[in-house]
Amino acid sequence: MDWWVSIPKVELHAHLNGSIRGSTLLELARGLGEKGTIVFSDVEHAILKDDRSLQEVFKLFDLIHIVTTDHKILTRITQEVVEDFAAENVVYLELRTTPKRNDLIGMSKRSYMEAVVKGLRAVATVEVDLAPRDLGTGNPVNSCAITDLCDGTARKKIYVRLLLSIDRRETTASAMETVELALEMRDLGVAGIDLSGNPIVGEWATFLPALKFAREQGLSITLHCGEVPNPVEINAMLDFLPGRIGHACFFGEEEWRKLKSCKIPVEICLTSNIRTETISSVDVHHFVDLYNAEHPTVLCTDDSGVFSTSLSGEYILASSAFGRSYAFYEYEYRLLNGLGRSEMFRLARKAIEFIFADDAVKRELGEIFESAARKLD
Ligand code: 5GP
Repeated sequence: MDWWVSIPKVELHAHLNGSIRGSTLLELARGLGEKGTIVFSDVEHAILKDDRSLQEVFKLFDLIHIVTTDHKILTRITQEVVEDFAAENVVYLELRTTPKRNDLIGMSKRSYMEAVVKGLRAVATVEVDLAPRDLGTGNPVNSCAITDLCDGTARKKIYVRLLLSIDRRETTASAMETVELALEMRDLGVAGIDLSGNPIVGEWATFLPALKFAREQGLSITLHCGEVPNPVEINAMLDFLPGRIGHACFFGEEEWRKLKSCKIPVEICLTSNIRTETISSVDVHHFVDLYNAEHPTVLCTDDSGVFSTSLSGEYILASSAFGRSYAFYEYEYRLLNGLGRSEMFRLARKAIEFIFADDAVKRELGEIFESAARKLD
Protein backbone atom coordinates (compact mmCIF):
# COMPACT_ATOMS: atom_id res chain seq x y z
CA MET A 1 0.00 0.00 0.00
CA ASP A 2 1.14 3.53 -0.70
CA TRP A 3 3.09 4.84 2.34
CA TRP A 4 1.04 8.04 2.62
CA VAL A 5 -2.21 6.08 2.66
CA SER A 6 -0.83 3.51 5.08
CA ILE A 7 0.13 5.87 7.92
CA PRO A 8 -2.59 6.70 10.47
CA LYS A 9 -3.96 10.20 10.06
CA VAL A 10 -6.21 12.62 11.94
CA GLU A 11 -8.72 14.77 10.00
CA LEU A 12 -10.01 17.81 11.87
CA HIS A 13 -11.49 20.03 9.15
CA ALA A 14 -13.91 18.22 6.84
CA HIS A 15 -17.35 19.57 5.84
CA LEU A 16 -19.86 16.78 5.23
CA ASN A 17 -21.43 18.20 2.08
CA GLY A 18 -18.05 19.32 0.74
CA SER A 19 -16.69 15.80 1.18
CA ILE A 20 -19.40 14.16 -0.95
CA ARG A 21 -18.06 11.74 -3.57
CA GLY A 22 -18.02 13.33 -7.04
CA SER A 23 -19.71 10.24 -8.48
CA THR A 24 -22.52 10.42 -5.89
CA LEU A 25 -23.08 14.12 -6.52
CA LEU A 26 -23.35 13.54 -10.28
CA GLU A 27 -25.68 10.56 -9.78
CA LEU A 28 -27.98 12.51 -7.44
CA ALA A 29 -27.97 15.59 -9.69
CA ARG A 30 -28.82 13.43 -12.72
CA GLY A 31 -31.74 11.96 -10.74
CA LEU A 32 -33.09 15.44 -9.94
CA GLY A 33 -32.58 16.39 -13.60
CA GLU A 34 -34.76 13.43 -14.67
CA LYS A 35 -37.46 14.58 -12.24
CA GLY A 36 -37.28 18.08 -13.75
CA THR A 37 -36.23 19.72 -10.46
CA ILE A 38 -32.98 21.01 -11.99
CA VAL A 39 -31.48 21.27 -15.48
CA PHE A 40 -28.76 18.64 -15.33
CA SER A 41 -26.63 19.98 -18.19
CA ASP A 42 -26.27 23.37 -16.42
CA VAL A 43 -25.40 21.70 -13.16
CA GLU A 44 -22.98 19.14 -14.63
CA HIS A 45 -20.71 21.92 -15.86
CA ALA A 46 -20.66 23.59 -12.42
CA ILE A 47 -19.85 20.28 -10.70
CA LEU A 48 -17.05 19.27 -13.07
CA LYS A 49 -15.33 22.68 -13.14
CA ASP A 50 -11.92 22.40 -11.47
CA ASP A 51 -10.81 25.83 -10.26
CA ARG A 52 -13.33 28.09 -8.57
CA SER A 53 -13.01 31.33 -6.65
CA LEU A 54 -14.13 31.25 -3.03
CA GLN A 55 -17.39 32.97 -4.04
CA GLU A 56 -18.00 30.38 -6.80
CA VAL A 57 -17.47 27.64 -4.21
CA PHE A 58 -20.34 29.03 -2.15
CA LYS A 59 -22.57 29.03 -5.26
CA LEU A 60 -21.66 25.38 -5.75
CA PHE A 61 -22.61 24.65 -2.13
CA ASP A 62 -26.06 26.12 -2.72
CA LEU A 63 -26.43 23.66 -5.59
CA ILE A 64 -25.06 20.73 -3.57
CA HIS A 65 -27.56 21.53 -0.82
CA ILE A 66 -30.49 21.34 -3.28
CA VAL A 67 -29.28 17.86 -4.18
CA THR A 68 -28.42 16.53 -0.71
CA THR A 69 -30.83 18.11 1.78
CA ASP A 70 -32.98 15.01 2.22
CA HIS A 71 -32.86 12.58 5.14
CA LYS A 72 -32.05 9.44 3.14
CA ILE A 73 -29.41 11.18 1.06
CA LEU A 74 -27.74 12.65 4.14
CA THR A 75 -27.55 9.18 5.66
CA ARG A 76 -26.00 7.85 2.46
CA ILE A 77 -23.39 10.57 2.05
CA THR A 78 -22.40 10.41 5.73
CA GLN A 79 -21.78 6.69 5.41
CA GLU A 80 -19.78 7.13 2.21
CA VAL A 81 -17.69 10.01 3.55
CA VAL A 82 -16.71 8.08 6.70
CA GLU A 83 -15.93 4.95 4.68
CA ASP A 84 -13.77 7.00 2.29
CA PHE A 85 -11.76 8.57 5.11
CA ALA A 86 -11.37 5.20 6.83
CA ALA A 87 -10.15 3.64 3.56
CA GLU A 88 -7.14 5.94 3.59
CA ASN A 89 -6.40 5.21 7.25
CA VAL A 90 -7.90 8.25 8.86
CA VAL A 91 -8.21 6.93 12.42
CA TYR A 92 -9.88 9.99 13.92
CA LEU A 93 -12.31 12.20 12.02
CA GLU A 94 -14.05 15.35 13.14
CA LEU A 95 -16.84 15.76 10.62
CA ARG A 96 -18.63 19.10 10.58
CA THR A 97 -21.98 19.92 9.08
CA THR A 98 -24.57 22.72 9.19
CA PRO A 99 -27.90 21.40 10.54
CA LYS A 100 -30.57 22.60 8.10
CA ARG A 101 -34.30 23.07 8.33
CA ASN A 102 -36.59 22.49 5.36
CA ASP A 103 -40.30 22.61 6.24
CA LEU A 104 -41.30 21.42 2.75
CA ILE A 105 -39.89 17.97 3.45
CA GLY A 106 -40.48 17.95 7.22
CA MET A 107 -36.82 18.45 8.05
CA SER A 108 -35.80 20.11 11.31
CA LYS A 109 -32.23 20.74 12.43
CA ARG A 110 -32.66 17.79 14.77
CA SER A 111 -33.98 15.38 12.11
CA TYR A 112 -31.12 16.52 9.82
CA MET A 113 -28.60 15.52 12.50
CA GLU A 114 -30.43 12.26 13.23
CA ALA A 115 -30.06 11.36 9.56
CA VAL A 116 -26.32 12.06 9.85
CA VAL A 117 -26.00 9.87 12.95
CA LYS A 118 -27.93 7.13 11.11
CA GLY A 119 -25.27 7.35 8.40
CA LEU A 120 -22.50 6.87 10.99
CA ARG A 121 -24.31 3.78 12.26
CA ALA A 122 -24.66 2.43 8.72
CA VAL A 123 -20.91 2.41 8.10
CA ALA A 124 -20.06 -1.15 7.18
CA THR A 125 -16.38 -1.28 6.26
CA VAL A 126 -14.98 -0.20 9.60
CA GLU A 127 -16.02 -0.02 13.26
CA VAL A 128 -17.09 3.49 14.21
CA ASP A 129 -16.47 4.86 17.71
CA LEU A 130 -18.78 7.81 18.19
CA ALA A 131 -19.38 7.76 21.91
CA PRO A 132 -17.72 10.07 24.40
CA ARG A 133 -16.14 8.46 27.48
CA ASP A 134 -17.43 8.47 31.05
CA LEU A 135 -15.00 10.62 33.03
CA GLY A 136 -14.81 8.15 35.92
CA THR A 137 -14.56 4.78 34.16
CA GLY A 138 -13.17 5.77 30.78
CA ASN A 139 -15.87 3.58 29.17
CA PRO A 140 -18.10 4.90 26.39
CA VAL A 141 -21.21 6.55 27.92
CA ASN A 142 -23.31 5.39 25.01
CA SER A 143 -22.00 1.87 24.61
CA CYS A 144 -24.86 0.73 22.37
CA ALA A 145 -23.55 3.15 19.77
CA ILE A 146 -20.51 0.95 19.52
CA THR A 147 -21.88 -2.53 20.22
CA ASP A 148 -24.58 -1.94 17.59
CA LEU A 149 -21.83 -1.49 15.08
CA CYS A 150 -19.44 -4.15 16.21
CA ASP A 151 -19.81 -7.49 14.48
CA GLY A 152 -17.73 -9.31 17.07
CA THR A 153 -14.58 -9.56 15.00
CA ALA A 154 -11.58 -7.32 15.48
CA ARG A 155 -12.09 -4.76 12.77
CA LYS A 156 -10.38 -1.58 11.77
CA LYS A 157 -11.72 1.33 13.75
CA ILE A 158 -12.33 5.01 13.12
CA TYR A 159 -13.21 7.48 15.86
CA VAL A 160 -15.76 10.00 14.59
CA ARG A 161 -16.81 13.15 16.40
CA LEU A 162 -19.29 15.66 15.01
CA LEU A 163 -19.03 19.44 14.95
CA LEU A 164 -22.21 21.40 14.29
CA SER A 165 -21.58 24.35 11.98
CA ILE A 166 -23.21 27.73 12.26
CA ASP A 167 -23.57 29.28 8.80
CA ARG A 168 -22.69 32.99 8.64
CA ARG A 169 -26.11 33.64 7.03
CA GLU A 170 -27.83 32.61 10.29
CA THR A 171 -29.36 34.88 12.94
CA THR A 172 -28.33 34.84 16.61
CA ALA A 173 -31.48 32.84 17.44
CA SER A 174 -30.76 30.26 14.75
CA ALA A 175 -27.11 29.97 15.88
CA MET A 176 -28.34 29.47 19.45
CA GLU A 177 -30.69 26.70 18.25
CA THR A 178 -27.72 24.89 16.73
CA VAL A 179 -25.77 25.16 19.99
CA GLU A 180 -28.77 23.81 21.98
CA LEU A 181 -28.98 20.89 19.57
CA ALA A 182 -25.25 20.22 19.92
CA LEU A 183 -25.67 20.09 23.70
CA GLU A 184 -28.58 17.65 23.42
CA MET A 185 -26.56 15.42 21.09
CA ARG A 186 -23.33 15.27 23.09
CA ASP A 187 -23.80 11.59 23.93
CA LEU A 188 -24.04 10.87 20.20
CA GLY A 189 -20.56 12.18 19.55
CA VAL A 190 -21.13 15.92 19.08
CA ALA A 191 -17.95 17.52 20.40
CA GLY A 192 -18.11 21.12 19.29
CA ILE A 193 -19.22 24.02 17.16
CA ASP A 194 -17.79 25.46 13.96
CA LEU A 195 -18.44 28.87 12.43
CA SER A 196 -18.31 28.72 8.63
CA GLY A 197 -20.06 29.89 5.48
CA ASN A 198 -19.39 32.75 3.13
CA PRO A 199 -16.86 35.01 4.92
CA ILE A 200 -18.17 38.20 3.32
CA VAL A 201 -21.61 37.58 4.81
CA GLY A 202 -22.66 38.25 8.45
CA GLU A 203 -21.12 39.92 11.45
CA TRP A 204 -19.03 38.43 14.25
CA ALA A 205 -21.31 40.10 16.84
CA THR A 206 -24.27 38.04 15.55
CA PHE A 207 -22.61 34.71 16.41
CA LEU A 208 -20.73 35.71 19.55
CA PRO A 209 -23.59 35.12 22.05
CA ALA A 210 -24.15 31.56 20.77
CA LEU A 211 -20.41 30.81 20.68
CA LYS A 212 -19.94 32.14 24.23
CA PHE A 213 -22.87 30.04 25.45
CA ALA A 214 -21.46 26.95 23.71
CA ARG A 215 -18.11 27.43 25.41
CA GLU A 216 -19.69 28.02 28.83
CA GLN A 217 -21.49 24.69 28.39
CA GLY A 218 -18.24 22.87 27.64
CA LEU A 219 -18.38 22.59 23.84
CA SER A 220 -15.15 23.14 21.92
CA ILE A 221 -15.09 25.79 19.21
CA THR A 222 -13.33 26.19 15.89
CA LEU A 223 -13.72 29.25 13.66
CA HIS A 224 -13.13 29.86 9.97
CA CYS A 225 -10.85 32.83 10.39
CA GLY A 226 -9.05 35.13 7.96
CA GLU A 227 -10.35 33.74 4.65
CA VAL A 228 -10.75 37.34 3.48
CA PRO A 229 -8.86 40.45 4.58
CA ASN A 230 -10.86 41.60 7.63
CA PRO A 231 -8.42 42.54 10.43
CA VAL A 232 -11.14 43.73 12.80
CA GLU A 233 -12.92 40.39 12.68
CA ILE A 234 -9.68 38.38 12.74
CA ASN A 235 -8.58 40.19 15.91
CA ALA A 236 -11.99 39.72 17.55
CA MET A 237 -11.88 36.01 16.72
CA LEU A 238 -8.37 35.60 18.15
CA ASP A 239 -9.35 37.52 21.30
CA PHE A 240 -12.17 34.99 21.75
CA LEU A 241 -9.46 32.27 22.06
CA PRO A 242 -11.18 29.48 20.11
CA GLY A 243 -9.94 25.90 20.49
CA ARG A 244 -8.75 25.98 16.86
CA ILE A 245 -9.07 28.13 13.76
CA GLY A 246 -9.26 27.17 10.10
CA HIS A 247 -7.38 28.74 7.15
CA ALA A 248 -5.72 31.97 8.49
CA CYS A 249 -4.94 33.16 4.96
CA PHE A 250 -5.18 36.93 5.34
CA PHE A 251 -3.26 37.62 8.53
CA GLY A 252 -1.12 40.73 8.99
CA GLU A 253 1.95 40.95 11.23
CA GLU A 254 -0.07 41.86 14.31
CA GLU A 255 -2.45 38.90 13.80
CA TRP A 256 0.43 36.44 13.32
CA ARG A 257 2.03 37.72 16.52
CA LYS A 258 -1.22 37.32 18.44
CA LEU A 259 -1.93 33.86 17.01
CA LYS A 260 1.55 32.60 17.83
CA SER A 261 1.53 33.97 21.35
CA CYS A 262 -1.87 32.32 22.04
CA LYS A 263 -0.75 29.07 20.38
CA ILE A 264 -4.20 28.51 18.84
CA PRO A 265 -3.88 25.45 16.55
CA VAL A 266 -4.46 26.11 12.85
CA GLU A 267 -6.28 23.72 10.51
CA ILE A 268 -4.33 23.97 7.25
CA CYS A 269 -6.19 23.26 3.99
CA LEU A 270 -3.55 23.57 1.25
CA THR A 271 -5.50 22.42 -1.82
CA SER A 272 -8.61 24.37 -0.81
CA ASN A 273 -6.62 27.59 -0.33
CA ILE A 274 -4.87 27.21 -3.68
CA ARG A 275 -7.96 26.19 -5.64
CA THR A 276 -9.95 29.13 -4.27
CA GLU A 277 -6.96 31.42 -4.85
CA THR A 278 -6.88 32.70 -1.27
CA ILE A 279 -3.18 31.71 -1.44
CA SER A 280 -1.40 32.18 -4.78
CA SER A 281 0.77 29.04 -4.68
CA VAL A 282 1.73 26.29 -2.29
CA ASP A 283 5.34 27.57 -2.11
CA VAL A 284 4.22 30.75 -0.36
CA HIS A 285 1.67 29.11 1.92
CA HIS A 286 1.87 30.20 5.58
CA PHE A 287 2.00 26.55 6.64
CA VAL A 288 5.78 26.50 6.28
CA ASP A 289 6.27 29.54 8.51
CA LEU A 290 3.98 28.09 11.18
CA TYR A 291 5.75 24.74 10.95
CA ASN A 292 9.17 26.36 11.33
CA ALA A 293 7.88 28.37 14.30
CA GLU A 294 6.69 25.07 15.83
CA HIS A 295 3.19 26.51 15.95
CA PRO A 296 0.46 23.84 16.33
CA THR A 297 -0.87 22.97 12.87
CA VAL A 298 -2.81 20.10 11.36
CA LEU A 299 -3.18 19.25 7.67
CA CYS A 300 -6.82 18.86 6.59
CA THR A 301 -8.90 18.44 3.43
CA ASP A 302 -11.72 21.00 3.97
CA ASP A 303 -13.91 19.68 1.12
CA SER A 304 -12.35 16.55 -0.35
CA GLY A 305 -15.19 16.11 -2.88
CA VAL A 306 -15.41 19.70 -4.07
CA PHE A 307 -11.62 20.06 -4.34
CA SER A 308 -10.91 16.49 -5.50
CA THR A 309 -8.40 15.80 -2.78
CA SER A 310 -7.79 13.36 0.08
CA LEU A 311 -5.92 13.63 3.37
CA SER A 312 -3.10 11.45 2.02
CA GLY A 313 -2.97 13.82 -0.97
CA GLU A 314 -2.57 16.82 1.37
CA TYR A 315 0.35 15.08 3.12
CA ILE A 316 1.99 14.33 -0.23
CA LEU A 317 1.48 17.94 -1.36
CA ALA A 318 3.04 19.35 1.82
CA SER A 319 5.95 16.97 1.68
CA SER A 320 6.68 17.58 -2.00
CA ALA A 321 6.34 21.36 -1.65
CA PHE A 322 8.35 21.75 1.54
CA GLY A 323 10.52 18.66 1.61
CA ARG A 324 12.36 19.03 -1.68
CA SER A 325 14.69 21.80 -0.42
CA TYR A 326 16.20 19.16 1.84
CA ALA A 327 18.38 17.85 -0.98
CA PHE A 328 19.84 21.27 -1.76
CA TYR A 329 20.52 22.55 1.74
CA GLU A 330 21.20 19.24 3.37
CA TYR A 331 21.56 19.17 7.12
CA GLU A 332 20.82 22.78 8.01
CA TYR A 333 17.75 23.10 5.85
CA ARG A 334 16.45 19.79 7.06
CA LEU A 335 16.40 21.16 10.60
CA LEU A 336 14.37 24.11 9.42
CA ASN A 337 11.71 22.69 7.18
CA GLY A 338 12.63 19.46 5.45
CA LEU A 339 9.35 17.61 5.52
CA GLY A 340 10.38 14.04 4.83
CA ARG A 341 8.42 10.97 5.83
CA SER A 342 9.45 10.94 9.50
CA GLU A 343 8.58 14.63 9.91
CA MET A 344 5.22 14.03 8.24
CA PHE A 345 4.51 11.07 10.50
CA ARG A 346 5.32 13.24 13.54
CA LEU A 347 3.05 15.98 12.18
CA ALA A 348 0.19 13.49 11.78
CA ARG A 349 0.71 12.19 15.31
CA LYS A 350 0.96 15.69 16.83
CA ALA A 351 -2.62 16.38 15.65
CA ILE A 352 -3.87 14.14 18.48
CA GLU A 353 -3.14 17.03 20.86
CA PHE A 354 -5.62 19.29 19.06
CA ILE A 355 -8.66 17.01 18.80
CA PHE A 356 -11.91 17.90 20.58
CA ALA A 357 -12.44 14.43 22.07
CA ASP A 358 -11.51 13.42 25.60
CA ASP A 359 -8.19 12.22 27.01
CA ALA A 360 -9.15 8.54 26.81
CA VAL A 361 -9.49 8.87 23.02
CA LYS A 362 -6.18 10.77 22.88
CA ARG A 363 -4.50 7.91 24.74
CA GLU A 364 -5.98 5.29 22.41
CA LEU A 365 -4.93 7.26 19.35
CA GLY A 366 -1.44 7.57 20.83
CA GLU A 367 -1.30 3.77 21.01
CA ILE A 368 -2.43 3.45 17.37
CA PHE A 369 0.37 5.77 16.25
CA GLU A 370 2.88 3.99 18.50
CA SER A 371 2.02 0.66 16.95
CA ALA A 372 2.22 2.13 13.43
CA ALA A 373 5.62 3.68 14.22
CA ARG A 374 6.95 0.27 15.31
CA LYS A 375 5.77 -1.29 12.04
CA LEU A 376 7.41 1.47 10.01
CA ASP A 377 10.81 1.12 11.76
P1 5GP B 1 -22.31 21.28 5.17
O1 5GP B 1 -22.21 22.14 6.40
O2 5GP B 1 -23.53 21.62 4.36
O3 5GP B 1 -22.18 19.83 5.45
O4 5GP B 1 -21.02 21.61 4.28
C1 5GP B 1 -20.97 22.66 3.35
C2 5GP B 1 -20.95 24.01 4.05
O5 5GP B 1 -19.72 24.16 4.78
C3 5GP B 1 -20.94 25.20 3.09
O6 5GP B 1 -22.26 25.57 2.74
C4 5GP B 1 -20.25 26.27 3.91
O7 5GP B 1 -21.14 26.88 4.80
C5 5GP B 1 -19.24 25.49 4.71
N1 5GP B 1 -17.92 25.47 4.02
C6 5GP B 1 -17.39 24.49 3.27
N2 5GP B 1 -16.15 24.83 2.84
C7 5GP B 1 -15.92 26.06 3.33
C8 5GP B 1 -14.80 26.94 3.25
O8 5GP B 1 -13.77 26.68 2.62
N3 5GP B 1 -14.93 28.14 3.91
C9 5GP B 1 -16.04 28.46 4.64
N4 5GP B 1 -16.05 29.65 5.26
N5 5GP B 1 -17.10 27.65 4.73
C10 5GP B 1 -17.04 26.46 4.09
